[in-house]
Amino acid sequence: GVSREGFQWTPSSGLKSGLPSIGVVEPPKKLRTSEDILDVIVIGAGYTGLTAARDASTNGLKTLLIEGRDRIGGRTWSSNIEGYPYEMGGTWIHWFQPHVYRELSRYGMKDEIVHSTDFNYRHNFFSFETASGRREMSHEEEDELFSRAIEKFCNVDGNLGKTVIPFPFNAHWNKDVLQFSNLSVADRIAQISHDLSSDEQHAIEAFVLLCSGGTRDNSAFLDFLRWWAAGNYNYKTLLDTIIIFKLKCGQSGFARKFFDEAIATGNLSYLFNTTVTQVDSSKTIVQVRTADGQRFQAKRLICTVPLNVLSKVEFDPPLNRAKQEAAALKHVNQCVKVHAEIKDPEMRSWSGVTYPDNELVIGLADGRTPAGTTHCVFFGCNAKLQADEDVEKTLKAVKAFAPMDVERLVFHNWAKDEFAEGAWVWYRPGMEVKYLEALRERQGPVLFANSDWASGGWRSFIDGAIQSGTEAAMTVRDELKAPSRNDGSR
Ligand code: FAD
Repeated sequence: GVSREGFQWTPSSGLKSGLPSIGVVEPPKKLRTSEDILDVIVIGAGYTGLTAARDASTNGLKTLLIEGRDRIGGRTWSSNIEGYPYEMGGTWIHWFQPHVYRELSRYGMKDEIVHSTDFNYRHNFFSFETASGRREMSHEEEDELFSRAIEKFCNVDGNLGKTVIPFPFNAHWNKDVLQFSNLSVADRIAQISHDLSSDEQHAIEAFVLLCSGGTRDNSAFLDFLRWWAAGNYNYKTLLDTIIIFKLKCGQSGFARKFFDEAIATGNLSYLFNTTVTQVDSSKTIVQVRTADGQRFQAKRLICTVPLNVLSKVEFDPPLNRAKQEAAALKHVNQCVKVHAEIKDPEMRSWSGVTYPDNELVIGLADGRTPAGTTHCVFFGCNAKLQADEDVEKTLKAVKAFAPMDVERLVFHNWAKDEFAEGAWVWYRPGMEVKYLEALRERQGPVLFANSDWASGGWRSFIDGAIQSGTEAAMTVRDELKAPSRNDGSR
């Protein structure tokens, strides 16, 4: 099918909205008739909601999945164009991400994992353009610079962070970590600036802003420390886990497996193109109301609406105060992600940084299309570029990295996306310690699950989404299916 989301530009056809995706669900609706009161309603068909709906339905629970978009996958989806998958959102996965790998293995997909990088082509270098000028280095020199710089950034305890965050999935285990809770990326750089060369500082800022999608001042240092811990306190391992391995079939091919397994149970109903506007859990049965006036009821609700749009749903009783505050503050990730198809096949081994004077910060060759062109992907932060509004500016930002013949652009504007208003979660300084626990709290029959507040080391990743959906579905199953120990009937 063709999603109404995303954009594509080519020199001959210009800018067009809408992209083909196997994640589009057609027809968009499957409702059974005899379901007055469902077991569980899941709001959102991202990886959290897909996992929750799959696990609930395979456990025999009558499940309804409601999604505002025309497709599955939420912030993770791929568009196949001329035989090549472009990842609009979540892309890279790794076997060190336990929930992701478990699913890949369950679905027999380990042969789908492919390398993004290939250093066997002629333009095998890294271009580094900063305030001090433009240089080309080998990828080994690139790694050496970034590794040295990021280690300085994370070495908060003389032990590369291992003492302060020994467990990424339990980041506050050592209370010493709390001294960093209000620190921004800029604050941390200030602490170590006496020991940073200008190259190192540019490397830290470019890399950390690639990770946070925000600014030096609004991005929490703590989120980065946890990523670092999850990447085993090592720059190369961190890179491997966040930007090197992806799926040949595209993420929508993976997401489909969850959805199809849920459908095969016969227990799943679904409604796409349907936005939930109200949730009433003031009585024992939860009532859900949609923008087009439909009403549904269930014993439990799993709400997977992300942080930055949570305040768009009206809850009765209202969201607890901390949830309301966090949803009003929002997280800072306004990442810009743009794919470019580059004519020269020899660019396949290139990567580069342009910082701070370009709207895009990092670019890298990410694949080779069937037509033999190079696929490069570019990242910017803080919504500095609205590619759908200004293609010329986007092309200029791409060409600022290196001379490139651009044959196609493909992108999704996440900053303007009404169901996300941003990319993966990145908290403001102070937010994690103040709000994370409260964001995870259930309110009566309503459970809140999302990668944005997943409890694992890979919060903000696809892995966190799958973890969060798994946990929510287990809680619901235990409450609805397991013989109650204190109901006296057994
Ligand atoms: P979402 O995917 O946001 O799902 C929530 C769903 O709820 C959405 O489908 C939304 O449409 C729906 N919804 C919202 N409000 C309503 C409503 N009122 N009514 C009905 N439906 C509603 N992760 C990685 O692991 N690796 C990566 O390389 C990576 N790169 C990324 C790059 C980008 C540009 C982006 C945006 C994200 C990236 N991520 C990556 C993060 C990853 O995509 C997310 O963490 C994950 O997909 C979140 O899943 P989720 O189900 O928790 O939330």
